[in-house]
Amino acid sequence: MTDHLQALGWTARFEELFEPYRSEGLTPARVGMEHTHIYRVLTGQDEWLARVAGRLRHQASSRADFPTVGDWVAVEPPASSGDARIKAVLPRTSRFSRRAAGDPTEEQIVAANIDTVFLVGGLDHDFNPRRLERYLVVAWESGATPVIVLNKADLVDDPQIPVDEVRALAPGVDVHAVSTRQPESLAPLQAYLTTGRTGALLGMSGVGKSSIANRLVGHELLRTNEVRESDSRGRHTSSNRQLVQLPGGGLLIDTPGMRELQLWEAGGLTDTFADVASLAEQCRFRDCRHGQEPGCAVTGAVAAGEFPESRLDSFRKLAAEREHAERQQDERALLERKRQGRIGAKAIRQVTRIKDRT
Ligand code: GDP
Ligand code: ZN
Repeated sequence: MTDHLQALGWTARFEELFEPYRSEGLTPARVGMEHTHIYRVLTGQDEWLARVAGRLRHQASSRADFPTVGDWVAVEPPASSGDARIKAVLPRTSRFSRRAAGDPTEEQIVAANIDTVFLVGGLDHDFNPRRLERYLVVAWESGATPVIVLNKADLVDDPQIPVDEVRALAPGVDVHAVSTRQPESLAPLQAYLTTGRTGALLGMSGVGKSSIANRLVGHELLRTNEVRESDSRGRHTSSNRQLVQLPGGGLLIDTPGMRELQLWEAGGLTDTFADVASLAEQCRFRDCRHGQEPGCAVTGAVAAGEFPESRLDSFRKLAAEREHAERQQDERALLERKRQGRIGAKAIRQVTRIKDRT
C-alpha cells in the first residue's frame, strides 16, 4: 500500500475492495470535488478532471450509486486529451445523505468516507443541547463517529458545566470545549485528524465551523462557492476544494451538501417558523420539505386540522425561494470558474444541461 494513497485515507479495506479493478488496469483515486457530473479526483500524485463512465451510469440504480466527495473510485486515467473516467465507486465506510431535490424519495449522498464528524455547538446565548441530540442521530446514522465540540468557551466562566451537561446527554461520545480565540484549545481535535483520517464539521450556522476549519487548515479556507478576487498582480484565485489536506496529515471535507444539512436547521426559516420546525422533529425524514413525503408530521397535522394550511403554504413558499437563491449562487460560482478558464466551456455546457434536469 503506497504512502501517497494512505495520506488520502486509503486503507487495507479499500485495497482489498479495489483488487478486481487493479487487475483491469484501473487507478484508485479519491473524489476531492464535485460539480454536478464533473469531478476532480486525487490519486496522491495527480489531480484529474473525471466523468462517470457509461457503464457505471447505466448500472447505477439510483443517485446514491454516483460518486460524491470523499468517495474512493476506480478510474481510467485520462487519455492524452480529455478527462479521466470513473468506472466504479468503492463501498463507503460512512455516508451523509439527504433526499434529492425534485424527488423526495431519492437519496443523494453529500459526502462519504468521513471518519469523524465534529458536531459543533456554540457556548453563547444560542447553546442548545437538544439540537445537538438531533445532530447525534444524524451522525450515528451516517456511520461516522461523532465528536461534540462546544465552541466559544471563551464566553463562559466555567465550560465544564455545559461539557458535563452534554456528556450526560451523549454517553460514550467525546466532548470538548474549545475556542477559536484560544488556538491551543483546538489541539485535542487534531488527535482525530491524524494522517489519512477524514473529518467534517456539522452544526448550526454561526457556531464557528468556518473559524474552526480555518484554524485546522492553518489559513483561510474559502467556502466552496465563494470566489476571491485577489492579489496585487490582479490574478484571480479561488478555492473550489471540498476535500482539504490538513498540515497535520488529516483531511477535512466541506461540501455544499454538508452545508445544506447545516442550513436546514439553521437561522431564518427555523426562527420564523418555529412551529413548523417543532412539528418537523416528528417527520420521518430530517430534511422533510413537508410536501409529498411519507411520514410528514406537518402535513399530518394539517390533515388532522391541528395546524393552519395557510401557515404551511407560506413556509413552503419561503423554503422554495431560498432553494432557488442557493441554486443561482451555485450557477454563478460555476460561471466564475469558467471565466477563469478552470473548466472548459464544453464542460460548463454539460453541467448546465444536467443542472436543468436536476
Ligand atoms: P459558522 O457559520 O459555523 O461557519 O461560524 P463562523 O466561523 O462564521 O463564526 C460565526 C461567528 O462566531 C463569527 O463572528 C466568529 O468570529 C465567531 N466565533 C467563532 N469562534 C468563536 C469563539 O471561539 N469565540 C467567540 N467569542 N466567537 C467565535
Ligand atoms: Zn415533514
